[in-house]
Amino acid sequence: MSIIVQKFGGTSVADTEKIRNVAHAAILEKELGNDVVVVVSAMGHTTDGLIKLAHELSSHPSEREMDMLMSTGEQVSMSLLAMAIQEQGHDSISLTGAQAGIKTEPAHMCARIIDIDTTRINKHLKEGKIVIVAGFQGICEGNEITTLGRGGSDTTAVALACALKAKRCDIYSDVEAVYTADPRVIKTAQKLKVISYEEMLELARVGANVLHPRSVETAMLNDMPMRVRSSFKLDDVGTLIIGADKMELNKPVTGLACDTSQVRIIICDVQDKPGNAARLFNLLADNNLSVDMIIQSYARKATNTNDIAFTISKNDLDKFNSIKDKINEIVNASNIFVDDDIVKVSVVGAGMIDRPGIAAKMFDTLARENINIKMISTSEIKISCLAEKKYSDAAARALCKAFELDGASVADVKGDLPDV
Ligand code: ASP
Ligand code: MG
Repeated sequence: MSIIVQKFGGTSVADTEKIRNVAHAAILEKELGNDVVVVVSAMGHTTDGLIKLAHELSSHPSEREMDMLMSTGEQVSMSLLAMAIQEQGHDSISLTGAQAGIKTEPAHMCARIIDIDTTRINKHLKEGKIVIVAGFQGICEGNEITTLGRGGSDTTAVALACALKAKRCDIYSDVEAVYTADPRVIKTAQKLKVISYEEMLELARVGANVLHPRSVETAMLNDMPMRVRSSFKLDDVGTLIIGADKMELNKPVTGLACDTSQVRIIICDVQDKPGNAARLFNLLADNNLSVDMIIQSYARKATNTNDIAFTISKNDLDKFNSIKDKINEIVNASNIFVDDDIVKVSVVGAGMIDRPGIAAKMFDTLARENINIKMISTSEIKISCLAEKKYSDAAARALCKAFELDGASVADVKGDLPDV
């Protein structure tokens, strides 16, 4: 018998009527002859509400207590779902992360899963039960409850699917599929039938809010097929995420995303000598600041200095400001600018690897819209440009046209659809 792991996000379990619908979806999968494990998020905006409560009492609540608090959200939805399934005539049991054997590193609010002991889940599956597991949480050494970072239930689901050697991991939410671009902005954006792990990972990282990047990373490492599908249209199979080797790539670009959640930092006149960049970025890392794009300019001969610019998440700006003096001490900059009027526009496609001219076409398209590029970064399958925030939609529209993302299917599966 195959195991299918299903994950339902907050909007899919937002009220009891919706929980009844999720129970139905789990039972449908069970009646197809599969063993079913369901991972749930907290109901609606419960997690945001819990965080707000904490901040009403403390500006710096302890991370341990935040984990105790936030982990309760998923416990509400998991037990309600088990009851709804029982009510519809099937056997079901809900388990917390700890009860499900999910072990994490000892890091509060951002723990990584290090191991899953599947004994208990397997035992309940053998008994014919639909097993519900609380997403986003685990347990670390010393029996402490940890959480995986916001949006972490996707990662719980994929990690469980890998540990249980499931056939597939289905991520259900209020979006029907992965689209070539944000369908709220680009009305003609297309649903993707299939996308590779690599492309999905890049899109998730550059701001397509469909999946938690770490979940895709885990699926890629374990070659675990995923589906993104809608909990409100159960007969729609959504988008399949598989290895690029199984795909027919007929266009260079598969999708695009715009991210306005970053700020650009420019450190001016850093002495051009060995060790300065290392000291700067070590300081940022020591303060848990993740850096995205990094650019160092050509050194100015007269002063022997150059500028270093990079982007960080807007949420980390307070943290950055608190170490600004320290940065100055280390690299003795003439000035540190913060530019928050930016959008990062990225195009992603495994098909761009062997095709030259994609970057030129992107720059050309932006130039024709009179959009100035502030910063550029590339990877093997991605090109990102920073521009002024007001150009976000115009850039997305123009690039969609240029790379035919509003046309027919962008990629297809080689031969028949794999049996997933
Ligand atoms: N409930 C958690 C959050 O809102 C985890 C999740 O939804 O994946 O971040
Ligand atoms: Mg959520």
